[in-house]
Amino acid sequence: GWRSRAALKLEAIDERDRLLAPGRVVVDLGAAPGGWSQLAAQRVAPGGVVVAVDCLAMAPLPGVRCVEADFATDDGLRAVQTALEGREADVVLSDMAPNLTGHAAVDQPAAMGLAELAADFAGRALKQDGVLVAKCFQGEGFDAFRAELGRLFARVSVRKPDASRSASREVYLVARGRSV
Ligand code: SAM
Repeated sequence: GWRSRAALKLEAIDERDRLLAPGRVVVDLGAAPGGWSQLAAQRVAPGGVVVAVDCLAMAPLPGVRCVEADFATDDGLRAVQTALEGREADVVLSDMAPNLTGHAAVDQPAAMGLAELAADFAGRALKQDGVLVAKCFQGEGFDAFRAELGRLFARVSVRKPDASRSASREVYLVARGRSV
């Protein structure tokens, strides 16, 4: 079984967008407890690698290099770069979410900030034909972020997997084909 129900969301996105294939290099941002990493590692084997980062500790998984760090810090970013050993990524996944306070005025900017972080990283780490999947919440800042991705990538799609509760504002942006 999967470590988290979240794995079903990535499974559905991958079914449609075909991100994961043997040999690919994947960075999984906000990876704990590890459902996405588990699925990704299975689908990039043989020959691929998954670098998984989370501020929370994660039990080891075959084919996954776990980095326990806050990705919003320089140290976290450096630790991920070290684990990549100079390889460019085929896929950057971000399922990062802030600790929710229940106040939209706090939660929404925090969530958008994490999506921005994932997009900045994708701009540096992805191969030219690489793909970014970023969790977002519809609300303040979402349209602007989507437009920003539209400037950086040739194609941007919004995905709402069945496993994502319909009442939740959570959606995933899938961006491919870097234009810069
Ligand atoms: N995709 C995961 C899975 O399949 O198991 C679930 C991820 S969970 C929805 C969101 C994760 O983002 C949490 O584990 C949280 O610790 C992590 N996170 C949030 N902000 C982070 C940051 N700045 N650096 C690293 N991880 C972060």
